Amino acid sequence: MDCLFCKIAAGQIPARTLYEDDQVFAFHDIAPQAPVHFLVIPKKHVPTLNHLTDEDKALTGHMLHTAQRLAAELGCDEGFRVVMNCNHQGGQTVYHIHMHVLGQRQMHWPPG
Ligand code: 5GP
Ligand code: ZN
Repeated sequence: MDCLFCKIAAGQIPARTLYEDDQVFAFHDIAPQAPVHFLVIPKKHVPTLNHLTDEDKALTGHMLHTAQRLAAELGCDEGFRVVMNCNHQGGQTVYHIHMHVLGQRQMHWPPG
């Protein structure tokens, strides 16, 4: 599978890993937009949010729980932001779903 995040999850492309289990992989973003900026991905290849099925409900819940736990470990006790971009108009550039977790600076809304 010619997918960047599948290769990162498989250890074929190096990344600054934060956490890994049989279902998910978490690593620092290569171009951080905040002092804390990491990504949580499923090990399973899912191209976009539109490709999720009922079978993935536990997986996406586990991704969110992992995001929350790692944000706490990285000191985001004042708050943090979780973002998922879907398809080109949503700003998605890597077509393997991922949660962005951003923290340790003030976030603003709307993001633009
Ligand atoms: P998207 O725009 O698809 O929501 O987010 C993709 C994210 O992946 C971007 O924040 C980008 O910086 C990050 N990214 C792209 N290539 C790599 C890489 O090779 N390693 C890491 N760690 N992050 C990457
Ligand atoms: Zn993939």
